[in-house]
Amino acid sequence: MNTRQQSKIIHSWCGRPMCLDRKLRTSQYKGILITSESSGTETCVQLGDFVLVEGENADQPFVAQILNLYEDGSQNKHAVVQWFSHITEIPQNKRRLLKRKVSPQEVFFDKVPGYDTDIPVETIIKRTTVIPLLLGEELPITLNKKQTFCVKQSWDGKCFTTLSSDTFLKLKEASKKGGNSPNSSSSFTPSGIVSLLKKETESVVQSATKNDELEIQSKHGDSKSSVRKKRCSQGVANSTRTPTARKKLQLNGPTQSLNSRLMGCEILKLLDDDCGAIAPLEPSAAKRKVRITGGLGSPPKMPRTDDKSESGFATEERWFSDTIQLSSYAKVKYSSGKAGDLPVKNDTIAFTEYLAQNCQNLLLIPRSRRICAQKTYARISEQISVLNKLEKKDFLSVSDGSDSSSSEEEENDVLCTLEKKTKLSRTCSTPKSSRKSSVHTPAKTLEKTKPLPGTPKTPQNATPEIPRRSCEAQKPVTILEKARLRLHVSAIPESLPCREEEFQDIYNFVESKLIDGTGGCMYISGVPGTGKTATVHEVIHCLQQAAENDDIPSFQFAEINGMKLTDPHQAYVQILQLLTGQKVTATHAAVLLEKLFCTPGPKKKTTVLIVDELDLLWTRKQNVMYNLFDWPTRKHSKLIILAIANTMDLPERIMMNRVSSRLGLTRMSFQPYTYKQLQQIISSRLNNLKAFEEDAIQLVSRKVAALSGDARRCLDICRRATEICEFASRKRTQEIVRMAHITEAIDEMFSSPYINAIRNASLHEQIFLKAVLAEFRRAGVEEATVQEIYRQHIALCRMEGRQSPTLSGVMAICSRLGACRLLLLESSKKYLHMRVRLNISQDDIMYALKDE
Ligand code: ATP
Ligand code: MG
Repeated sequence: MNTRQQSKIIHSWCGRPMCLDRKLRTSQYKGILITSESSGTETCVQLGDFVLVEGENADQPFVAQILNLYEDGSQNKHAVVQWFSHITEIPQNKRRLLKRKVSPQEVFFDKVPGYDTDIPVETIIKRTTVIPLLLGEELPITLNKKQTFCVKQSWDGKCFTTLSSDTFLKLKEASKKGGNSPNSSSSFTPSGIVSLLKKETESVVQSATKNDELEIQSKHGDSKSSVRKKRCSQGVANSTRTPTARKKLQLNGPTQSLNSRLMGCEILKLLDDDCGAIAPLEPSAAKRKVRITGGLGSPPKMPRTDDKSESGFATEERWFSDTIQLSSYAKVKYSSGKAGDLPVKNDTIAFTEYLAQNCQNLLLIPRSRRICAQKTYARISEQISVLNKLEKKDFLSVSDGSDSSSSEEEENDVLCTLEKKTKLSRTCSTPKSSRKSSVHTPAKTLEKTKPLPGTPKTPQNATPEIPRRSCEAQKPVTILEKARLRLHVSAIPESLPCREEEFQDIYNFVESKLIDGTGGCMYISGVPGTGKTATVHEVIHCLQQAAENDDIPSFQFAEINGMKLTDPHQAYVQILQLLTGQKVTATHAAVLLEKLFCTPGPKKKTTVLIVDELDLLWTRKQNVMYNLFDWPTRKHSKLIILAIANTMDLPERIMMNRVSSRLGLTRMSFQPYTYKQLQQIISSRLNNLKAFEEDAIQLVSRKVAALSGDARRCLDICRRATEICEFASRKRTQEIVRMAHITEAIDEMFSSPYINAIRNASLHEQIFLKAVLAEFRRAGVEEATVQEIYRQHIALCRMEGRQSPTLSGVMAICSRLGACRLLLLESSKKYLHMRVRLNISQDDIMYALKDE
């Protein structure tokens, strides 16, 4: 018996084995019993039944039909399934082939080769219904609910075809068997629960019929639809606890059998226990509903009874369009749950606020639903602007204070007492949300919090905004302006000269893994500005194009950057969120990712993950980096990682106590650019733009190549030189960038007070700085203790034939450099164990010491 530990859901066989293959020691079964230990409910899923299967995205489980159930020699339970694809599983560019609108309930009979059809039965969540339909047909309104799907066409990975008559008939038979038999032997309900729910189910039938009526009536009038919404939203609010909630949840399915409706409840309960571990449909929906209705004391909104990714919002859309048609605010009030929930204001400002608040709440929706939420947000914004226009027309005559709530009056009082100009502007800048929040504040508190005249009023819930451009950015006109833009590091170059080999190697690596359907990790290292990130991005871009053209299997892509993470462990959170849309804590995310990459998942696509700035994911136990190197080696991971770092031997150091050979890393090192390569890079960026003298390009390339071979630094100098030249051109005649401009730019860049401080430092202070560089390079981390640096210092002195300083002498040097802010020092109490960092770039130190 396999037990899902977290959820306490047990999958066991139904009945005796049907036939036994003695040689392979496999036995076949006709059903699987899903039992929830906590609620004591049981469901039997049989051969031919349609089921929901756990997917990577908890919000959208896969749909499948069970073709076979068997147990292997090691007593693992398997199900062989026929897959159905949601429209969201089909590549975006292929969806266009359909040339019709697809309802979120429609699935496609999956003929895509390569998907694993043998799945562990533990991934089965519950039974569902799939009804075959002809192309022009639609699901009857009565079946228009989350748990029912329809299938009209098949999908083979390249094109859509209509279902063959044979398949159609078979599916029809299966859907009749599974969905419509009221006393289906496949449903078991423990007698206790039956008697408990008996009364309710009777009322379910009644209220279901009523609800049906309501649904029909709703088409004839706005107010009636509002009543329905009100009821539903109340039901939603209660749906997790009370018996009425159960009733309300069942309101959607009047045609469903009594038993299966009961089953629906049981499974809901069953899934409730399993929150997070498996893909709960209704419970998560309930959660979402609570989130949406619960924000900031706003009225019950969005009657998302269906809770489908599209249709849920379609309902909202309908609701908004309903309300937008209403001429008076009273109707809006009527459509909401309780009268008191909505601020009783006569003007549209209140309603606009209310809509805006709804928008805010939409942001709380899990990421997977954000796309829909964003669309809705756009629609709402449109409606807000319509309302604003209306407001201008119809409500201009309404005086500010006359109809507003008491809190607004209070605000006006404040306004009166304050000096006019400043106060007015302050109140105008007070965000709406803060004004609104005062609506719910009791008068007493308000009095207390009322700002004294002259005291600046701190806006609550203020959202800082970047002021918008008042006029369009000017297009480059002169050659120098054009050159300056092309040389900007953020400009995407048309090509990446001098990185052709590296590009090809990375491309081949990922392509071969994608074709084989395996995983692997490539470790890409090199000093800053050598084009690692740019090359890898170009590879992914080309691979995505190849996948769109069907030249290689499609893949899922995600990217994280160590620099953008507040903590290395956040890497888990980000990866999980990018891949599945789930947002959980770091520890939980690590567990879920382990499960994702280490268990054979059905319909698993290969994932390509870029981990940029890997060096920064350094933790004491090195678990984050270890996992990143380890996951791709797992058999079922289908994970390709492109890890980018500055340190060459990072993998060895992470694997100090572990078997590094196991990793089987493919390595690639990006060498610093030579002066010729830098020259080529600048020329290709300028793309025949005659803005630089040849000698000027050569000078900057040579200078940078001698220092670090960093293309970023090279481009920066060129850009600054262009600016200097532009400035000079304004005074005199138009000219192009010459060597003098480059020299000026280099001097400017390297003539900071820090560089002067280094140049004027004592001999041993300079040696100490060199020792810092040497230690950083040795360790690969830009932090070291005084003790470690001291060792390097002694070695350098020995090489140069100088006398080494004493320990106390080194401590004095260190604190002097710290006082100049060339170094950042930890507390000096730690003495030799004090940690040291540089406060300027390594390049600057090298530049300052080179000219000496
Ligand atoms: P870091 O280690 O600091 O992240 P990196 O090796 O990832 O550096 P990139 O960010 O790829 O460096 O490159 C730095 C800048 O130099 C980018 O603006 C990039 O466009 C440019 N660059 C690098 N190599 C080339 C090239 N071969 N051709 C054109 N531009 C290049
Ligand atoms: Mg980079």
